[in-house]
Amino acid sequence: MALTGMQIYKLLPKTNCKDCGFPTCMAFAMQVAAKQKAITDCPHLSEEAKAQLSEASAPPMKLVKIGPENNAFEIGQETVMFRHEEKFHRPCGIAARIGADLSDEDALKKVERANNSVFERVGETLSVKLIAVELDGCSNPVDRAKKCAEKSKLPIILISEDEKVISEAANSLKDLKPLIYRANTKNIDAFADIATKNSLPLAIFADSLEEMADLSDKAKNKGVSDIILSFEGKSIGDTLRKLTIARRAALKKTFRPLGFPTIVKIDEDTPEKETVVGSIFAAKYAGIIIIDSLEPWVLLPIMTTIQNVYTDPQVPNTVEAKLYEIGNPDENSPVMFTTNFSLTYFSVEAEVERSKIPAYISVVDTEGLGVLNAYAGDKISAEKVVKTLKEQKVAGKVKHRKLIIPGLLPVFRAEIEDTSEWKEVIIGPENAREIPAFLNKIWKK
Ligand code: SF4
Repeated sequence: MALTGMQIYKLLPKTNCKDCGFPTCMAFAMQVAAKQKAITDCPHLSEEAKAQLSEASAPPMKLVKIGPENNAFEIGQETVMFRHEEKFHRPCGIAARIGADLSDEDALKKVERANNSVFERVGETLSVKLIAVELDGCSNPVDRAKKCAEKSKLPIILISEDEKVISEAANSLKDLKPLIYRANTKNIDAFADIATKNSLPLAIFADSLEEMADLSDKAKNKGVSDIILSFEGKSIGDTLRKLTIARRAALKKTFRPLGFPTIVKIDEDTPEKETVVGSIFAAKYAGIIIIDSLEPWVLLPIMTTIQNVYTDPQVPNTVEAKLYEIGNPDENSPVMFTTNFSLTYFSVEAEVERSKIPAYISVVDTEGLGVLNAYAGDKISAEKVVKTLKEQKVAGKVKHRKLIIPGLLPVFRAEIEDTSEWKEVIIGPENAREIPAFLNKIWKK
């Protein structure tokens, strides 16, 4: 929470020496509170005041990194309860659970599958972000952890409640900065010592939020700076309630013991339930979810939820307004236009690719609005389309003068034909998924 000018003033030397460039300490404090000056511009701050100010000005939720510096997964430092208030900053990461019940061979196959669980959606790459290795129950837990780490570049989570196992695995993989998952009320002292000794992040778990806060303080007092709160309620609703209360306590009350990012291990008996429950916690408010199934139909709904929740609601998702060549179009290829809303563009692009007919797509700048919204909001007109086609020099690319327009804008047809060189305007489908059949029907290769 931001400090007031008076709170900052109380920590200043109050000598009015002017070395900061301001006539008084109070004037300087007001500038710092208004974020116009850094507190470090006062050269006479005591170490004690510096420590207090850094604690007080720390973000309400800590940023935690898992993995080595050049390849770390970052979570935390969220600032709002609701996306529309600003935006959510660090997308929830999916961790693939590598069960202790798997043979070494199957475990490594699953790691490989997690590595390759990469998808493209509306111009973004979606992927599994972490490998969560269960150690308790493995015949050689440290060897299992090392083999999984060697097989993947993804950051590692070490799952065990056994102090000896965690100590050896953490020591062996400390350069990879794995997350220790997880300390509880019984082993907190030992686990905190291991995390501190190896400079590793530590997940903590307790049945109640009060105990969680106590554990967090204990870990912090033992020198653990990177803490992740692990949640697992009696039911989905109970877990969701705890996640919400913890986030509110951190962001609204600056309650430091709960001012950390979160992790939820999904424990459902079917992949279908895993998808639903994973999506729920990814939306609210898990920083990491650990799941078992890596089927694309399990991963994609969760990834899509994450992608949607973590886009900035105040910035339209756009693609550059220019002429795109899909496949290797030539002078006989079809020409069409669409808007620069990325979901619209990528839907059209994917369907044109699926048609196997190379084509030109002219993208009109509609300030990130889809076809109908752009039309309703006066962001697209026949005149603007003609102007865009001219600017993109589309006519020079093809011999014909046929233009396919979105089926939702049939009213543009007459005006484009009357006012431009595009004398044969063809009304395309209303829905992008109909493009392949439409193109194959009307366009002779
Ligand atoms: Fe006050 Fe520090 Fe500025 Fe001197 S330099 S006037 S002590 S704030």
